[in-house]
Amino acid sequence: IKIKITKVDIPVAFASAFEGEIIRRKDMRVEFDGSRVDCVELVQTKEMNEVEDHKITVVGPEVDSFEPGSKHSLAYVVEVAGKKMQPDFEPVIERKFHNYINCIEGVYHTGQRDMFRIRISNDAFAAGFRAKHFGEVLYTQVKNEFEAVVDKCQVTVYTDPDECTRMRHEVAIPTFDKRDARLETLTDESVDVYYSCILCQAFSPSHVCVVTPERLGLCGAVSWLDAKATNELDPNGPCQIITKERPIDVNLGSYEDVDEAVKKYSQGALEHVTLYSIMQDPMTSCGCFECICGIEPFSNGVVIANREYAGMTPLGMTFSEMASMTGGGVQTPGFMGHGKHFISSKKFMKAEGGIERIVWMPKELKETVAERLNKTAKELYGIDNFTDMIGDETVATDPEVLVAFLTEHNHPALSMDPMM
Ligand code: SF4
Ligand code: ZN
Repeated sequence: IKIKITKVDIPVAFASAFEGEIIRRKDMRVEFDGSRVDCVELVQTKEMNEVEDHKITVVGPEVDSFEPGSKHSLAYVVEVAGKKMQPDFEPVIERKFHNYINCIEGVYHTGQRDMFRIRISNDAFAAGFRAKHFGEVLYTQVKNEFEAVVDKCQVTVYTDPDECTRMRHEVAIPTFDKRDARLETLTDESVDVYYSCILCQAFSPSHVCVVTPERLGLCGAVSWLDAKATNELDPNGPCQIITKERPIDVNLGSYEDVDEAVKKYSQGALEHVTLYSIMQDPMTSCGCFECICGIEPFSNGVVIANREYAGMTPLGMTFSEMASMTGGGVQTPGFMGHGKHFISSKKFMKAEGGIERIVWMPKELKETVAERLNKTAKELYGIDNFTDMIGDETVATDPEVLVAFLTEHNHPALSMDPMM
């Protein structure tokens, strides 16, 4: 017998009314920040006998012992078991955590996977909210919303920094990599449908992601397989099927079907969206993009910055400054939010010439994507070690020095047509 729980047992309110709530630095008791320390959120499928329903464990110190205003590691692992549970559903459940945690009064969550940030307000702390309550919220909501597939659920909340590091690097990242690898054999041409995702409309009411095998959601957490699983779990939910029977321009990735879908799901705010261009009707961005690419006029190329990168880019803007121009569900030609995995996609701004346009990335991001990006550059253009031609902050954060570096390395963007 399954019991449907309607109330979450925590000392503060829990309601979708708190979803858009922002906690300012001066109002926060503690912060967990995946861009600075090891944080991770993860769902793992287990056997029935491995899960004790409603068991909530905290490994490490409670929030009380943290200095007010300080930054910490946090990992929460939700283990689920059920006859109808499939590992394909794990990322779909995980992606809901953003929404669940945001519904807590006095708690704010952005991002996903190992790149989330959570703040607990002074008021929520004073009311008695502690790390263990994340477990309570996740348990209750997962059991409520995924009762069709989850029979038993237990949650472990790690605040011990070494355990967070271990969970992130030894458990979560290999799991994420495995999921991402499953997609590699699929292409946009090889599937019959794409999917829409409107999970972020709580923050960006007109934002719609169109998710294809070669272009994952800009949060980096919703692949085509995830969107497909979301649709299977909840046919009336956030991910809907988009047919692709009426192409307008294959190179731009524009379709009548896609236009109709974005118009419908943005309540008329958007009319045309292309899948492969950043100049013509680019896809909109909400706020949770992993990366932003922006046009760099001196080199005919684009600069990419990732959320973790706090420094300056050759555009004279930091990631946050680029983000302020890009978010909010509006189309900003020349700027576009996207997932990390999209960088090595054959469809990355294909309409403007593709990955050959990439002239600069933070060093760490470049190293993360190097293997896949170099493989794509070799396949598309026969270029070896393409990342060696791409600048980073150790080479230049100003456009003139960058162009000199690109010239010296014979970067292909320099001889391409101007983008505007
Ligand atoms: Fe969905 Fe896009 Fe938001 Fe990711 S960024 S959750 S794909 S709407
Ligand atoms: Zn979003």
